[in-house]
Amino acid sequence: MKTTDGRLTGLLAAEYGIGGARTRLGGEGENYLVSTPDGQRFVLKLCIEGQDSALLELEHVAAEALAREFADIAVPRTVLTKSGNVESMQALDGVTLRGRLLHFVEGTAWCEAGPTTSARRQEIGRCLARVTTALARVNHPAAQRSHRWDLTAAEAQRPLVAKVHDAERRRVLEQAYLLYVAGALPRLDALPQSLIHGDLSDENLLVADERVVGLLDFGDCLRNPTICELAIALSYLLLDEPDPLAAGAEIVAAYHEQSPLSVLELEILFPLICGRLAVSVSIAAERHETAPDRDAWFVSEARAWSALTRYAEIDPLKAADVLASGTGLPVFEDRSTSRASTLERRRRHFPDALSLTYRDPIKFSRGSRQFLFDQRERPHLDLYNNVCHVGHCHPRVVEAGYRQMRRLNTNTRYLYDQLAEYGERICALLPTALERCFVVNSGTEANELALRLARVHTGAEEMLVVDGAYHGHTTTMLQISPYKFMGRGGKGRAEDWVHIVPIPDGYRGKFKGQGREAGVAYGDELGRIVAALERPLAAFITESLPSCGGQIVPPEGYLETAFAHVRQAGGLCIADEVQVGFGRVGERFWGFELQNVVPDIVVLGKPIGNGHPLAAVVTTNEIAASFTNAGMEFFSTFGGNPVSCAIGTAVLDVVRDEGLQQNALRVGTRLREGLRELMKRHAVIGDVRGVGLFLGVELVRDRTTLEPATEEAALLIDELCRRGILTGTDGPHRNVIKFKGPLVLTESDADMAVRVIDDVLTAQGSR
Ligand code: PMP
Repeated sequence: MKTTDGRLTGLLAAEYGIGGARTRLGGEGENYLVSTPDGQRFVLKLCIEGQDSALLELEHVAAEALAREFADIAVPRTVLTKSGNVESMQALDGVTLRGRLLHFVEGTAWCEAGPTTSARRQEIGRCLARVTTALARVNHPAAQRSHRWDLTAAEAQRPLVAKVHDAERRRVLEQAYLLYVAGALPRLDALPQSLIHGDLSDENLLVADERVVGLLDFGDCLRNPTICELAIALSYLLLDEPDPLAAGAEIVAAYHEQSPLSVLELEILFPLICGRLAVSVSIAAERHETAPDRDAWFVSEARAWSALTRYAEIDPLKAADVLASGTGLPVFEDRSTSRASTLERRRRHFPDALSLTYRDPIKFSRGSRQFLFDQRERPHLDLYNNVCHVGHCHPRVVEAGYRQMRRLNTNTRYLYDQLAEYGERICALLPTALERCFVVNSGTEANELALRLARVHTGAEEMLVVDGAYHGHTTTMLQISPYKFMGRGGKGRAEDWVHIVPIPDGYRGKFKGQGREAGVAYGDELGRIVAALERPLAAFITESLPSCGGQIVPPEGYLETAFAHVRQAGGLCIADEVQVGFGRVGERFWGFELQNVVPDIVVLGKPIGNGHPLAAVVTTNEIAASFTNAGMEFFSTFGGNPVSCAIGTAVLDVVRDEGLQQNALRVGTRLREGLRELMKRHAVIGDVRGVGLFLGVELVRDRTTLEPATEEAALLIDELCRRGILTGTDGPHRNVIKFKGPLVLTESDADMAVRVIDDVLTAQGSR
C-alpha cells in the first residue's frame, strides 16, 4: 500500500514527469506547493470526490483567456499532462487520485500588501474592469452553474443566521440579508450577465508595488450578473480601509472609466457587498461547528464582521451616493424630502385625527414586492399591509392601469368591455348564486351598499354586527362598527337597530376551542339574540374571519349555525371579505368558504385593486332585482370605470398566474408553525392563530388569566419596525400582533420574521 505522499510522487512523475519537495497549502481544498530541483514552482490541486471535469475545464478556459489577454497579470495556467490533458489521474491499489498541476503565481496578496494608496485603488478598479471585459468574451456551457458562494443565491445561506451565537451580530446579519434580498435580488434579472471569476478577494489578488500582478483561484467561475465581480471584490478589498466607501468610490470610478457601469448596477452594489459579507460570516458560523480547527477558513471572519457592523450604520442611499460619486451617474434619482419636513407639512394642513403608526413614524419612498423602502433606502419587510395583495407596485397591475388610462376612462353609463369582463371574472370565482355585481370605490362604500341592498330586499331595518367589528368610516358604517363606537372616542351603541353579537373567539371568548362545539355554541348565542329581536331582521354582517377584532378564526360550524338562525328570521347574510378575500386564507379563495356557507351578499375591497381605489358588492339575482324594482338608479361616478376594471382584472390574473393562493398557504403555514415554536420559549405568546397569510399572535401577561400584554405588543412592533419588519397590533386590547402581508411573501421572509421576533422577545425580557 502506498502512502498519500507516495501516491502524489507517483502522480507527478507519471503524468507530468516531474518530482520535488511538497508542502500543503492553506485554503479550502487539498493543495500542495511543489518545488522541483531545478527551481520551478507549481501548485498541485487534488480534486475532491465527484468533482466535475467540465468545471475544471471551465477554470482552465477562463485562466487561459486572461493569460492570452494580459501580459502584465499572471494567472495559474494549467500544466497539461504528458498526454495533453487538463486533468491528471492515477489509480493505485483501488484508490484513484485526480488532480491538476498549475503554474505558481508570484506576488503578494492584497491583504498582506499593507495600506492601500490611491494609485493602487485606481489600478485595481481598472484591472477589475479589464478582467471582467476579457472574461465576458468566454463562453462555456459549464459556466451555467451555481455554488454556495454564488452571489445570486446568497439567500440560501440566510438560515445560517441562527448559528451565530451573539444576538447583536445576528441583528446586524439579518439587516445585511434583508438589504440584499430586498435591494439587490429582485433587480438582478435586469442586468447584463457574463462569465466572472467569482472570488477576486484580497487573498486572490496579487500586487507588487502599486500594480496588480496576479490573480488566483478560478474555482468559483460562473455566469453571473457582471456587477457581481466588482461587488465580490469590493466586499474584501475594503475590509481594512479606514473609510471604506470613499476607497470603494475610487475603485468604482476607475472601473467605470474603463468599463461603464449602469445606474442600476451602481444602485445595487452596496446591497450586493452586504450580501457577500453576510454569506461569508454565515458560512464561517457553520464551519465553527463542523471544522473549528481549520484556521484557513476563518481568515477574513473577524474583519467581515467588523465591516458588516459598520455598514449596518450606513444608509443604503448614502452608500450608493458615495460609491457612485466618481462616475457622474445619478443614483436613486427619485428622491423625497426629509422625513421631518414631510411631517411638519402634513401637520400643518391635515387633522391630527389622521393618525400615524409607530412612535417614530416612517416615511416611505418606494415599494416593490413585499418590501417598502424608506427615504434612506432602508428596506422594510411588509408583513402587515394587505392592500398590496400581489406585491407593492406590481408591474403587471401598474401596466394594466397605465395602458387603460391612456386609452379610455369613462363611467358605467356607457358600454365598454372592461366592466363586462371584470364582472365575468369576479362571478366565476364566487358561488354560482352570486351573479350580480356593483362596482364602487372603497370598502366603506361597498358595505353601505350592502346594507342598502339588504334593507330594500327585506324591508327590515335591524342589523346584527359582531363585537369588535369594523365596516367603514361613514356615519352609517360607524354605527355598525363596534370597533369604533365602543373604542377610543366612541360614544357606545347609539342606534337601537344595531345589535351586537359576541365575537366567535375560541381563545379569549365565552366558548373555548376551535371545535364544532364552540362554533355551534357561538352560532346559537347569536340565535338567542335574533330570537329576542322586537322588529324584523334585515341582515347579519360579519367579516368571514374577524380581523380588527383580533385576527379571529371562527370555530368550525359558526357561520353555518349563525346563518341558519339569521335566515330563519328572514334576514340576509353579508360576508365582509374586505380583509380576507382573494386567496389570503390559503385553503380557499374566499374566507367564507372555510365555513361551508354561501352568503347572500359578499363585500370586496382592499386587495381587489392592489392599492387602486376599487371595491365591489356581489349578490344574487333576487336581491339585485329587489333593488332595481325599488326604482332608484344606481350610479357611482368612478365605480366600475374602465381603468379600475382593468386593474382589478390584472390583480386576478396575477393571483392566478403566480399561484399566490397556494403561496399564501405554504408561507402562512410555515410562519404560523414557526411562531408556534416560539410559544415554547416565550410565555408572553398566549396564542398563535390563523390560516394562510391571515395570522395573529396574541400576547398575554398570564396564560391563565389572559391578562392582555398591550404594552409589550406595542414595544414589540416598534422594535420590529426598527429592525425592518412591519407588523401592527389590533384586537380590543391591542395585544394581537397582526400578520397579513402581501401574498408574495416567501418562506425565507417567514423564517427571518420568526428569528427576529425570537430575538426581540428575548431582548425585551420575556420569560
Ligand atoms: N370592512 C373591513 C373589514 C375593513 O377592514 C375595512 C377597512 N379597514 C373596511 C370595511 C372599509 O374599507 P375602506 O377603508 O376601503 O373604506
